[in-house]
Amino acid sequence: MELACLDLEGVLIPEIWIAFAEKTGIEELKATTRDIPDYDVLMQQRLRLLDEHGYGLPEIQEVIGTLDPLPGAADFLNWLRERFQVVILSDTFYEFAMPLMKKLGYPTLLCHKLEVAENGQITDYLLRQRDPKRQSVRAFQLLNYRVIAAGDSYNDTTMLGQAEAGILFHAPQNVIDEFPQFPAVHNFDDLRQEFLKASAVHEA
Ligand SMILES: [Mg+2]
Repeated sequence: MELACLDLEGVLIPEIWIAFAEKTGIEELKATTRDIPDYDVLMQQRLRLLDEHGYGLPEIQEVIGTLDPLPGAADFLNWLRERFQVVILSDTFYEFAMPLMKKLGYPTLLCHKLEVAENGQITDYLLRQRDPKRQSVRAFQLLNYRVIAAGDSYNDTTMLGQAEAGILFHAPQNVIDEFPQFPAVHNFDDLRQEFLKASAVHEA
C-alpha cells in the first residue's frame, strides 16, 4: 500500500504569512525562520503584530479566503488522489489553512492549532509534536504504508528522508544543492512523473 505525503505551503498554496503580509501591507509579517531562527520568537512577533494591527482570527480568515491555491494545484491533487491515498503534512495552523483547504476539496491535513479567545484574538499556538512531518511518515510506515513524499523546503527534508521516496518540488537552489539525494522538479507535470517513478504499483 502506498501513501503520498505532501507539504502544503509552497507546493499547493502560497506561503500564507507572506501572502497575508502582501494583502495587508504589514511588511514585518514577511519575516521567516531565515530572519528569526527561533520559531517561538518568530511566532510571538507574528501574534504581536496581528494584535497591533487589530487582526483577530475572523479578519485573518477573511484575508486568507481571498488567496487561491497555486495554479494547477487542484488538478494535481485530484490526479494524485485517484492513484494514492494522500495526506498533507504542514507546519501551518488549521485555522489559517481552512479557507484554502475548502478550495482544494478538504483533503486530509495534519498540522498545528491556534488558541483563540472569544473575541477572535489569537492568544497562543499549539504545535502538535516535534519534527511532526517525519513522525507522521514513521507512523504511516508502522501501518505498513510505503510513503512517497514531496515538499519544497528545509522543514520537509526529514520527512523526505524518512519516506521510501522523497521529491523536492519548487525548492530553492540552496535546498536542492544541500540535498542532492532527492530529485528536484519545478512543475506539476514533472511532479506527476516523479510520483509514478517512485511508485511500486503505478508505472511512469
Ligand atoms: Mg513548504
